[in-house]
Amino acid sequence: MITLIVRGVSKAFPGVKALDHVDLDAPAGSLVAVLGPSGCGKTTLLRCIAGFERADAGRITVAGRVVALEGMHLPSHRRGVGVVPQEGALFPHLSVADNVGFGLPGGRRNSERRATVDRFLELVGLGGLGERMPHELSGGQQQRVALARTLAPGPELVLLDEPFSALDAGLRTELRRDVKDVLRDQGMTAVLVTHDQSEALSMADHVVVMRDGRVIQSGTPIELYTHPNEEWVATFLGDASWLDGDVHGGRFDSALGALDVVAATPSGSARALVRPEQVELDASGAAAEVVRADFHGHDALLTLRLASGAGALVQCRLAHPGGAASGRGCRPGQCEGGSSAGLTRRRPSRLALSSAPIRSARATSVHECAGRTLSCTRSGRQSWQHRTV
Ligand code: ADP
Ligand code: MG
Repeated sequence: MITLIVRGVSKAFPGVKALDHVDLDAPAGSLVAVLGPSGCGKTTLLRCIAGFERADAGRITVAGRVVALEGMHLPSHRRGVGVVPQEGALFPHLSVADNVGFGLPGGRRNSERRATVDRFLELVGLGGLGERMPHELSGGQQQRVALARTLAPGPELVLLDEPFSALDAGLRTELRRDVKDVLRDQGMTAVLVTHDQSEALSMADHVVVMRDGRVIQSGTPIELYTHPNEEWVATFLGDASWLDGDVHGGRFDSALGALDVVAATPSGSARALVRPEQVELDASGAAAEVVRADFHGHDALLTLRLASGAGALVQCRLAHPGGAASGRGCRPGQCEGGSSAGLTRRRPSRLALSSAPIRSARATSVHECAGRTLSCTRSGRQSWQHRTV
């Protein structure tokens, strides 16, 4: 069953088309992320679904019931929809328990109500904190209370509007994981809006990418990441490099060697999308220059300028940036001018990249060839190592 069906929903404000014929499905029990840059219409879409905003056109169905149609607008409290807002959503004068119990029937002393409150506080990891006031909680704990309050009345659908954006990075990761688990455990159908691609890719079963009020592409996180339907989506979803080349007889020839083209593709010029994790360094490869190195702890991102291919820039992710022991990665002293980590930006270093690994690289996709969309694949494991030259 599909819990939420949005069809052709449009909404304009003076001078701006906030939503332009938006379609979206959320199957029962799924978590759908609506991903897009600030101002693309995400909050407006959630508000139309929740009933806080009246759509100009289109139809919205929640759990088999039409809640919005041209000339028809079911009030929000009758839609069976719960909303977890961005921040500051708790009633400051009510205890945590009273916040969670707010939408439940029965008075504060009602034992069934109290049991429900305790159960949902437990569920979000705040068991025993019911007597605290909101200001006595951290930002992350407050968002947990907001989630418990939304879930307690048993909505058909939960809408989350950038619920982690005010939290610092470590807390955000932990809360994302916990919220995903709670929603899944409860079999809840949820729509999460976010501008953060890693949040969408890591949490959602299905991602809807929006720009300027329109849905640009939707699919599973893997589909979107590996087969974006346009360059903007590819770049928005993660680090991307573009290789110009030619397709001949099912092969794509580029500065980094040849790839097999999967889809039936006419010969001619093409552009390949190459993700940084699809490029590794190799002693016998195509020559390239390191123009930038960004150290991230768990990995590092190198930007390389290829000597051939009209100086194309290609990004390469080093999984073990400090991996001197393994003999891999960009080690101190190996990059000219390397720092102790070997990866701080320094004057350009010369590296050599192998052309051979392109024949055995991992899967990638290629598209955008004079208006045509192509896709390629590579299989096997590549083994690039770098050397200074
Ligand atoms: P997002 O949540 O993706 O950042 P919004 O849905 O908040 O985007 O806004 C989409 C567009 O609609 C923006 O250009 C915004 O300025 C405009 N907008 C949103 N709400 C209103 C409003 N109540 N009145 C006028 N313009 C609005
Ligand atoms: Mg918003």
